[in-house]
Amino acid sequence: MRRFFSKDPENGPIVLRNYPDISVTVRQSAQAKRMSLRISSLDGRITLTAPPYARRSEIEGFVHEKQDWIAKHHATLGALETVNYGTALPIEGSLRRVAPHTGARVQLDETHLYVSQKRNAPAAQAQAYLKTLARDRLATASDHYAAKLGRPYTRLTLRDTRSRWGSCSSDGALMYSWRLVMAPPDVLRYVAAHEVAHLQEMNHSPAFWNVVTSLFGSYKAQRQWLHTHGASLHHFQFSD
Ligand SMILES: [Zn+2]
Repeated sequence: MRRFFSKDPENGPIVLRNYPDISVTVRQSAQAKRMSLRISSLDGRITLTAPPYARRSEIEGFVHEKQDWIAKHHATLGALETVNYGTALPIEGSLRRVAPHTGARVQLDETHLYVSQKRNAPAAQAQAYLKTLARDRLATASDHYAAKLGRPYTRLTLRDTRSRWGSCSSDGALMYSWRLVMAPPDVLRYVAAHEVAHLQEMNHSPAFWNVVTSLFGSYKAQRQWLHTHGASLHHFQFSD
């Protein structure tokens, strides 16, 4: 939740003069020798780290001097967007507009994700729908590749992980980020094939990649997609 009034305004976020929708979080650190700016590629959050002795006026001056640069990079990376009516949400690789309807249940078609106007909270409804869809798609793909490999997995769990899209434990438990359901379907299937391949090879050796290829085929494009666009799946915020 963004706080508009900090208890200590001296350390509160700095709103850019020419871009009032962008604010910079200030952090003073004993380790910092000079001021530095960081824009998170995951969610677009901007943090300025300053030495402990830096005065507020110096910090503000630094931020305002850099505001065009900040705005440019912020726009490229994209700020967090809270899901609401009108949000264009990628679902299985194509954009659907979130809209209210009179029905009681969430409904997906080619162009829209309809959420019930009776229940409000469009973000929570959309998130619950996506998680269910993700479980369905990831279980189907994992079952398929596990059968092809001839090795069963023990369980499948979904999380909202930032650092990884999936994992496979030594006892055969698969974990996936439910946000994969927003990516194109072949990307989701590649991640499932990758994690299932770890049931046989618990490493990233050439032998492991051979298993991935035997299960999925060429995976270069899907890996590249995750590298280039993966962070954009964290652009959407569903609750808070
Ligand atoms: Zn791996």
